[in-house]
Amino acid sequence: MNDLHDRALGAYLGFAIGDALGATVEFMLPREIAYQYGVHRDIVGGGWLKLMPGQVTDDTTMCLALGNALLAGGTQAMARHVQGDEALVRTIGDAYVKWFKSKPVDCGNTCRRGIMRYMHEGTLRGPLNPGDGGNGALMRNLPTVLATLGDDAAFERVSIAQARLTHHHPLSDAATLGLGRLLGLLLRGAPQIDCQQWVDQWVVEVPDFRFSPYRGYATAYVVDTVQTVLHYLTLHQDFEAALIATVNQGDDADTTGALVGMLAGARCGAANLPQRWLHRLQAPTVQAITEQTRGLLALAGPH
Ligand code: MN
Ligand code: MN
Repeated sequence: MNDLHDRALGAYLGFAIGDALGATVEFMLPREIAYQYGVHRDIVGGGWLKLMPGQVTDDTTMCLALGNALLAGGTQAMARHVQGDEALVRTIGDAYVKWFKSKPVDCGNTCRRGIMRYMHEGTLRGPLNPGDGGNGALMRNLPTVLATLGDDAAFERVSIAQARLTHHHPLSDAATLGLGRLLGLLLRGAPQIDCQQWVDQWVVEVPDFRFSPYRGYATAYVVDTVQTVLHYLTLHQDFEAALIATVNQGDDADTTGALVGMLAGARCGAANLPQRWLHRLQAPTVQAITEQTRGLLALAGPH
């Protein structure tokens, strides 16, 4: 396994670990978590979705749906994509419909509304909507980063196109592109100082995402999600410490956990993920992620 492959697998498996760990305490307040668990640090399932230990939620299964669509759509579709290569975006929309019809364990309201609109009207995007500031488009964009690594223009087009199927909001777009670019830096092994400088610059460009001083909101509003992710990712260099701190912030803990797991997993690589968490994930999930990581990196071409 080369370094890029190890970091990409670390990102995707780290994402699933964060989802499975955080889902137990999704929508809880930090003090409720402390009362019930002390510090929540084990993948035990449960939570409001009554999950099995190691079961992931919509965050991971929507990523897998998007990844499958990108693999089916192929690299040529991306290369010749001009704003409006409908075929690839329809493949993605169809994958979201198939995912939705598979009765996923959870589905956010904005995702549901967008998928229903695509199903019934066939439109690839909804109008700009101030209510579309949830983190649903952001949370599932990892496969786009892998499939377009090294081609920022393709990354931007495919990211926005997949996002607009369900979310049309400037801060959702900004978050999806920004965290995707940060992931791209980490995957290519950028030094910590470069990543830090990139983050510093980004929050100057998009002041809504400034996370210092951290306000402690970890909701599914994309601003709160990004602030929480950046706060804990930069506070802790260690994967386990970053992830435990994130999910114990509660609220949208599976999604903030997944995104911190993704970025911290890219930073440390799959070989350095905590084994006690990795072994808790369900085997089919690990297998699907492992296969997809290889395929998506192949789409991106040689590095
Ligand atoms: Mn979820
Ligand atoms: Mn969530």
